[in-house]
Amino acid sequence: MEKNNYDVIIAGAGPAGTTAATLLAQYGHSVLLIERDQHPRFHIGESMLPMSESVMQRLGIDWDKGNLKKGGAEFIDEVSGRRTYFPFEGKYHTFQVERSVFDKRLFDNAIEHGVIVKQQERVMSVICAESNVQLDTDKAHYQGRYLIDATGRDALMGKKLRSIDKIKNLGKFALYKHYKLAENEAANDLFAHGNIKILLSDIGWIWCIPLTEGRLSVGLVVQKNTSGELKQAALFEQAIQASPYMSELLIAAQTLSEVQIEADFSYRNTQRYGRRFACCGDAAGFLDPVFSSGFFFAVKTAEFIADQLHKGLVSGTEGAEELHQQGDAFYQKGFKTMHLLIERFYCSNIVENLFFESDRQLDIKREIVALLAGDLWQENNSFQQGLLCGRNKMA
Ligand SMILES: Cc1cc2nc3c(=O)[nH]c(=O)nc-3n(C[C@H](O)[C@H](O)[C@H](O)COP(=O)(O)OP(=O)(O)OC[C@H]3O[C@@H](n4cnc5c(N)ncnc54)[C@H](O)[C@@H]3O)c2cc1C
Repeated sequence: MEKNNYDVIIAGAGPAGTTAATLLAQYGHSVLLIERDQHPRFHIGESMLPMSESVMQRLGIDWDKGNLKKGGAEFIDEVSGRRTYFPFEGKYHTFQVERSVFDKRLFDNAIEHGVIVKQQERVMSVICAESNVQLDTDKAHYQGRYLIDATGRDALMGKKLRSIDKIKNLGKFALYKHYKLAENEAANDLFAHGNIKILLSDIGWIWCIPLTEGRLSVGLVVQKNTSGELKQAALFEQAIQASPYMSELLIAAQTLSEVQIEADFSYRNTQRYGRRFACCGDAAGFLDPVFSSGFFFAVKTAEFIADQLHKGLVSGTEGAEELHQQGDAFYQKGFKTMHLLIERFYCSNIVENLFFESDRQLDIKREIVALLAGDLWQENNSFQQGLLCGRNKMA
């Protein structure tokens, strides 16, 4: 008869779910990972941050293979002609990844580590009781000692507990499309450096992320109110045509997908853990795509939770509601820093006032690079300290 009782049940097999699953299996716990889709499945979010590297090492994932090296992040204002570049060098290196392929790799890796997986099975309801967790999917009933909610922006527990708190004033919605580029000078240069380009636009900003085999992810994140007259696809095309760089890059490019939309994505989950459950990745909160922090927070929160939960499972204290209190407070420092940085991007023109000036202040530039790399828990980053105190060195 099929086993239906596990130490840990994880809902959602994106990067957060597969990371938590693999780490807990490495510790020797029995883990069930339930995914409503079937890998490989499309997911937006291709640009990585360097500080995910240590988690990938623990998982045994060599991400040098099959991905494009990301040189750094470039910010460009084509109207004023100003631009700046934050390179990832030395201890900071990372990649641009095709998420369908990479998420499947993380999923297969979890299986190799002994995780029991179910695909095309949706978690419908869960009860976190005093002594165990009872979970129903559309196909079966399971029991466990603990639930990890890694359902991404579906936020299983956040919705159940009504603890989703929308964050205003960041990006309103994103329109995106994939291309295969024709060979030209702009394309060759883009793939040689592998940078993410962030182009400022009247109504928000455009991301340009090179992938392997000549593929390109392009997104328009809209922050300002638009007239509403233009349909989404037309709004996207208009923004692309208004950019001389994008127009040149896309000459003779082949379209790989229609324009797609993601909206209403900024929120925090105010109840990220409780009796016999914890949320990681987007299920714990998501800010905005601008500094590419989503995947990084997904694997980092999964790591925090897996390490702490392991201790709880070994000592039999996993039912204690405060199990994740300390780890969560630590994680919140990183999340808050990124939130403040993103808020400055949208609301106080940090790119114009600080990023474009940073070549004249190399100590600040180094500190900004650290934050853009996801190095959010250093003690001596004075730019970060200024942000957290509500000011920065330029103020
Ligand atoms: C427009 C946009 C652009 C982005 N760009 C970037 C970027 O460049 N770089 C970056 O790092 N991040 C980016 N992100 C964010 C990034 O994609 C996410 O932060 C990341 O995927 C979070 O991982 P996760 O595992 O928490 O959630 P997900 O990757 O969403 O995985 C959750 C999984 O749970 C499954 N699931 C949901 N509900 C259930 C259920 N009830 N039962 C079973 N399974 C379920 C889903 O099918 C899914 O596979 C972007 C986000 C947006 C909106």
